[in-house]
Amino acid sequence: MEVCNPMKNYTRITDSLRAGIIAALDTGTVVTDPEILSGYNKDASELRFVPEMVVIPKTTREVAALVCLANKHNFPLTPRGGGSGLAGACLAHFGGVVLSLEGMNRIRTIDTRNFIMEVEAGAISQDVRDAAAEKGLFYPPDPAGMDKSTIGGNAATDAGGPACVKYGTTRDYILGLEAVLPTGEIIQTGVKTRKGVVGYDLTNLLVGAEGTLGIITALTLKLIPAVPAATCIMAVFHDMVTAMETVSTVMAKGHLPSAIEFMDHRCLDLVGEMLPVALPQGKPSVLIIEIDGNKDRIQEEIRDIAGLCTAMGAFHIIPAPHDAEREKIWEVRRQVSLRIHDYAPLYVSEDVAVPLSAIAGLVNQLPGFEARYKLEIFAFGHAGDGNIHLNVTAQNRDNIPLVNQGVRALLQLVLDLGGTISGEHGIGLAKKEFIAMELSETSLALQRGMKQLFDPNNILNPGKLFP
Ligand SMILES: Cc1cc2nc3c(=O)[nH]c(=O)nc-3n(C[C@H](O)[C@H](O)[C@H](O)COP(=O)(O)OP(=O)(O)OC[C@H]3O[C@@H](n4cnc5c(N)ncnc54)[C@H](O)[C@@H]3O)c2cc1C
Repeated sequence: MEVCNPMKNYTRITDSLRAGIIAALDTGTVVTDPEILSGYNKDASELRFVPEMVVIPKTTREVAALVCLANKHNFPLTPRGGGSGLAGACLAHFGGVVLSLEGMNRIRTIDTRNFIMEVEAGAISQDVRDAAAEKGLFYPPDPAGMDKSTIGGNAATDAGGPACVKYGTTRDYILGLEAVLPTGEIIQTGVKTRKGVVGYDLTNLLVGAEGTLGIITALTLKLIPAVPAATCIMAVFHDMVTAMETVSTVMAKGHLPSAIEFMDHRCLDLVGEMLPVALPQGKPSVLIIEIDGNKDRIQEEIRDIAGLCTAMGAFHIIPAPHDAEREKIWEVRRQVSLRIHDYAPLYVSEDVAVPLSAIAGLVNQLPGFEARYKLEIFAFGHAGDGNIHLNVTAQNRDNIPLVNQGVRALLQLVLDLGGTISGEHGIGLAKKEFIAMELSETSLALQRGMKQLFDPNNILNPGKLFP
């Protein structure tokens, strides 16, 4: 853990610079009190960097003014949403100013005739979903941290979630953006229509760029009609291989669940007491399968799926036909990450994705890594996408070098299986030392060139993504 990492060639925030920044704001506010500043030193990773100042703008014009000052005086600017990221991407690695979007959280409009929402980037993601639901509409992306994350942060990380398997990720619901470029210019990208292919797709360049190419200040979101009902089951298997084969079987039979989540035996050791069934010895594994749609049809479909699970070897099916039971099942899933955090003093969160057919093979190899690198690895996540949260833990923080070796070896295995080192959490600071394992030199050079084109003075979120 580090506290600050000042880089020689950036300007420190002096009293006169601070006064200049405050003068550039109309209604926005700043944080300079060291105690409050220290609250902006973290996200959900283990990394810590205290910024020199936090600015909370209220308007896009104020954001642009701040970016102009950063270029003029050469200080780094780090965009921050809800601070729920898992890669240290919103941290002020080189000091300077954290630009928190928390003050820009208005839902500007919801157009129920055209199924679109205009929203400011600092709106909490759950509020966006709720606002759509109040109008009888549906915003599907459901990252698990959505009570804390912002819609701008979701866009900057292209957040996924359980519903991805059916509905896709955040980027699939962004029609256009309002953003401030690192040069201070304000740009509108994309369209307000359901389709649009004019020019390069700048919207999708900014989405997933982790705040390195522009500050997203507002978004035009695509909404869809509300889904009338949902139901789910939890299926308990004796082993992971059978559970994963069941995922492919269910989908091959023509079902497209709105979530297929899994938990391995280590996770069940932590949350097993929450289940209404005694778990057997060995390495049991569970799937949570949810179906949404027409009320009558989904009950019939979930029965078919439960039948498929049983035929594949599930020895217990826990049905959740009503919202209260469904909520209990999802609570088990939510508790997993919290309890892993409490369980181990050293915790590294990896979120790899592999082809569906490779999930079981990957999970089967985890015990070998555990023994070799003195780790315990908890595996859970989005089975329907092959997106596995591998929570690599150790009971002794002195093991960090060995744990890092283990993580690198694990990521290499994922790549050998045809996977990717991050399915949804992004690269930020935490994973940048691994990016060259996946991207070629040509790809990295092209991406660095794009960064240079957008941000010639390297003031926006410097030191992220690239080693
Ligand atoms: C309990 C828990 C569960 C989670 N579950 C999921 C999950 O299911 N799926 C998933 O994808 N992630 C998940 N996450 C990770 C996290 O919630 C997402 O990455 C989320 O999208 C981050 O949003 P944020 O607003 O908190 O962004 P921050 O953490 O504040 O920032 C993340 C990145 O976005 C940039 N950024 C933020 N706002 C802007 C903006 N307006 N303009 C430009 N750049 C910006 C930052 O600079 C940084 O690079 C989870 C996290 C936790 C703690």
